[in-house]
Parts: sequence; structure tokens; C-alpha cells
Amino acid sequence: MDNEPIKQQRNLVTELPGPNSRALEARRSAAVATGVSSMFPVYIERGEGAILVDVDGNSLIDLGSGIAVVSVGHGAPELVEAVSEQIARFAHTCFMVTPYEGYVAVAEALNRLTPGDHEKRSALFNSGAEAVENAVKIARHVTGRQAVVVFDHAYHGRTNLTMALTAKNAPYKDRFGPFAPEIYRVPMSYPFRDTEGMTGAEAAARAIEQIERLVGAHQVATVLIEPIQGEGGFVVPADGFLPAIAEWCRNNGVLFTADEIQTGFCRTGDWFACNHEGVVPDLITTAKAMAGGMPLAAVTGRAEIMDHVHASGLGGTYGGNPSACAAALASIAIMESQDLAGAARKIGATIQARLGAINSPRLGDLRGRGAMMAIEIVEADGRSPDAAAAKRIVGACHQAGVVTLSCGSYGNVVRLLPPLVIAEELLGEGLDVLVGAIEQELAS
Ligand SMILES: *Cc1c(COP(=O)(O)O)cnc(C)c1O
Repeated sequence: MDNEPIKQQRNLVTELPGPNSRALEARRSAAVATGVSSMFPVYIERGEGAILVDVDGNSLIDLGSGIAVVSVGHGAPELVEAVSEQIARFAHTCFMVTPYEGYVAVAEALNRLTPGDHEKRSALFNSGAEAVENAVKIARHVTGRQAVVVFDHAYHGRTNLTMALTAKNAPYKDRFGPFAPEIYRVPMSYPFRDTEGMTGAEAAARAIEQIERLVGAHQVATVLIEPIQGEGGFVVPADGFLPAIAEWCRNNGVLFTADEIQTGFCRTGDWFACNHEGVVPDLITTAKAMAGGMPLAAVTGRAEIMDHVHASGLGGTYGGNPSACAAALASIAIMESQDLAGAARKIGATIQARLGAINSPRLGDLRGRGAMMAIEIVEADGRSPDAAAAKRIVGACHQAGVVTLSCGSYGNVVRLLPPLVIAEELLGEGLDVLVGAIEQELAS
């Protein structure tokens, strides 16, 4: 493999997918289970910054970051060095057998960076879903209550408990039941689809009324919410919604758990999305961008809550793996030294300006925060979801070498999650391609 730096430029030398990708795709169909699918079957060989180079030598602009994971960019040298150095020293001991400093240092960083200046503790896991499962375990343990309240359009993972917490049936839950009991779903604040003018306080009152009537406040262990929904469509609740829900929790002995797996670590222009409204969760789950591409997840919470669980009640073979911890410490150092929260705000402003300039009733909503932005594509009535159009727009971007993703309960949202280190010029080029794809769709 050559180690020439990769130019931060889009460059297509074959059609996409090219011949080498197509050959790999044939091998894949014969070897990999159909249930695990890929949006864009272009096989990647190298990455640097915001560029992915495929096996045919095409350079693609990455506006997806592997679903909000490589915020520090592909191949960040500090991260590569930290992981290489760690794995050379030792790959694994299991923290539950013989501990090591990296795990402790990651817990310290999480306790320092997550919202609130109260005393905290953290526990590390492998995946976002595993962190969410553990947050529920902890909330039930400390409250002695069982009910978990979640929201419409929520996404919390694909394991059995987290499938139950996730809202959308297909593809996540279809034919995979039965699901875990004691999960209750209430309406989210979704300004674009709620009654015009509904405030955050009104949307919170609507949810709280249902919790009290259908579940009973005294039965609820935790209310679990993404402060900005990810897979559900980058739904940003109306101002005041999160604080009102958090306050109701506080008044009723219910733990407020923020799932910041997608929104966390600078993505929304602050360390955590809860910070935008000064909301301090009792428990917070993190994963994705925390370790820049290595699998690592965490639950962080108030010391008295976290320490309520008996010794050996939490854990796992690989949770807080040494290399993943080294990657997290390197990623966090990059986020701090390069002010990636500030970079996310700039990226957000650029995307808003560019996409906000397109005037069409079929761009129903442009929303998000920082470098977590999306457009909801609708029919000419300005409201009915148009998933086919969103799919065509994403497909056109792919054909032109720009990795974008779709999402949303109705499949009609095109989302942007660029690496936070993306150069202004490269982002501009990616947006040119996206705008071209949108204009082509609007003209058809
Ligand atoms: C991705 C995601 C999860 C699940 O994380 P995995 O690492 O895929 O298990 C949970 N919650 C949110 C908000 C996510 O975006």
C-alpha cells in the first residue's frame, strides 16, 4: 500500500461501482448474509480526512462519516499512532480481570465533558445498543421501577431490548419479535409535522399527559430520549421540550436518560446536544464519534446512580477495550485542540446557507444543528413524505462520488454528517453535487 497523502479532492476514474467493487460484490453475495446490506456497494481501500478511496482508485467525498463516527476524519495520525502503540503493548486483558489506565482515563474524560458539574461515574461497553441496554439496567436497578418511556421516531439499536425501544418496524423489527415488555412510546416534538405553532412546552405536556394516564409516573424508571433524533429523521424538538421533560422527570423520581450516541462529541456544535438548552441528564449514553472508528460506548451518570449497582452487575469481555480507549483519548484530544465543536457550527452554517437558498415546496424542512443537518423531501403539497425522491437524490450523489445517507420514519430525509475536519472547499464541492441532485429531482 502506498502511503502518499490522499488529495482532499473528488476524483472519479471509473463508473461507480467500478469493476473491482463489482467483483467484490459478487464474492460478498456468496459469503455475507443478505440481512446485512450496504447502501452504496463501493469497496473502500483507504481514507484520509473527508476522502474515501475505493478499490478502483476513485476518490469519494464522505458526507456520512460512517454514520457520525469519524468526526476527527479518516486516518487521523494521532489516532493511528495511539492505537498502534497500544496494540503493540497489549491488546486485551479484560478490564474485569486485570485493569489498565486507558479505561480510567476515558471515564475521567467522559465525567468531565458530559453535561453537569456533579460527581459522575462511567462504565464502558462496545456498541451503542449495549450502552443503551446498560442505561436501562442501571435505571431499573436504582429506581426499583420497570417502565421505560421512549418516543415516536426513536432509534436506540438492534438488540432485543433496543429493538423494543426503537420506533420503526421495517427494517429494524419486522418478524424479530417478541419484544421486551414495559416499554411505552409517547409523541415526540416534531415541529414540521406537529400542529402549526405547537410550542415545546405544549408538546411536552402532550407526552407527559400520556405517560401519567397510560403508565403512571411512579412506575417509570427512566425517560429515554435522543435530544435530536438520528435515524428517525434528524428531528429537532421545539425549544423548551427537552427542559420540560427533564423537569417532569426530576419532580417524579424518574431518571432522564439522554441517548447522545449520534449527537455527542461535537457533532451538533457543542460537546453534547443537551448543552444547547442547558439540560443535565441523569444518565447519558455515548458511542459513535467518541473513539473515531474504534468500537467503544459508554454510560455516564450521577455517581450515586451509577454506584448503586452491585459489583459485577455490569461489564463484558471487551467493554473498554484498550485500543478503543486509546482511540477515544486521541479523538477527544483532537476535538479539544482543533475546536471541532466550532468547526461543526461553521459546517452547519455553510450547509444552511447553501440548501436554504433552494426554494421549493418539495424541500419541506431543512433542519438540524451544527454538522448534523438534513432536508425532508415531500410532495408538491409541501407535506406528504416522498421517500422515492430522497432515494433518487442520495443515489445521484453516490453516482457522482459523494457519500450521503437517508433516514427518517418515512424514509424521506437526506442527512449530512461530514467529518468535522472537512475543508471548506471540499464541503462546498460535496454540496454542489447534492444541490445538483436536488435540482435535477425538482425539475423531473
Ligand atoms: C447508532 C445509534 C445507536 C446504536 O448504536 P450501535 O453502536 O449501532 O449499537 C443507539 N442510539 C442512537 C441515537 C444511535 O444513533
